Amino acid sequence: MQHTVKAPIRFEGVGLHSGAPVTLTIQPASAEHGIWFRRIDLDGTDTMVPARWDAVKQSPLCTRLVNAAGVEVSTVEHVMAALIGCGVHNALIDVTGPEVPILDGSAVPFVRAILARGLRNQRVPVRAIEILEVVEVRRGDAWARLSPADTLRMDFHIEFSDAAIGRQDKSMTLSNGAFVRELSDSRTFCRQSDVDAMRAQGLALGGTLDNAVVVDGDMVLSPGGLRHRDEAVRHKMLDAMGDLALAGAPILGHYEGHRAGHAVTNDLLRALFAQPQAFRMVTCDGAQTARLPGVGVTHREIPAPV
Ligand SMILES: [Zn+2]
Repeated sequence: MQHTVKAPIRFEGVGLHSGAPVTLTIQPASAEHGIWFRRIDLDGTDTMVPARWDAVKQSPLCTRLVNAAGVEVSTVEHVMAALIGCGVHNALIDVTGPEVPILDGSAVPFVRAILARGLRNQRVPVRAIEILEVVEVRRGDAWARLSPADTLRMDFHIEFSDAAIGRQDKSMTLSNGAFVRELSDSRTFCRQSDVDAMRAQGLALGGTLDNAVVVDGDMVLSPGGLRHRDEAVRHKMLDAMGDLALAGAPILGHYEGHRAGHAVTNDLLRALFAQPQAFRMVTCDGAQTARLPGVGVTHREIPAPV
């Protein structure tokens, strides 16, 4: 069944790139509403921004949504991953600025608050996107692929020259709370050289060693080190979860990402929806619903604070 949050949930923080204070409130929404953002700091324009693949304006560092009036909300991927990973299908997300708060750089602050507040069963079946044919996109040496599977499976591979990250592979079936247990607390990461370059362009102004894992060669500069030995690939899977959530419905299929970032995953959704024979919408029966990422997730699965 479709679910929404039981009551509004409020978060305060700063935007990763702007550094500006921002408040985000996840509001309950009716069945079939889907996920929408609303810019409550603006007037006299269309402030509703759909959390959908076709509203993505590609940018290299984060996932940015822009509506027809040019109103934008960026860095939506972590809150989107938390919503789908907790089984929230309908919500209206009010934000007081153009960027979602970065919080600790992972999805776990969103997950913890959503599960603490609880979900409301809306007694309308969930519709999902069943993948019927292989769809693949490439950009240079990065690629991503969707192929048929009866639940969301994910395989991811990354390669960085910095020894602190290096090559990492991970495979996972994202049902039974696996997202919350295994991925939700993995943080954004970047290289010190990227931080210097972004700062020179006036970006990453809200970035600190508390909301991103910063590496330099074989060193992890963030105090406390890593939350997982392979935190980087886990975070890339978290990002892919959030970006795939922009499909508008849970995906029943196998996602493979090879050095894929936000733009490649968005290319993949665009390629999927351009090929009507490659998928079909299904109303989930009990067995399919039981395999969706957020079903049966409880508070006990949240990783302990580090
Ligand atoms: Zn991320």
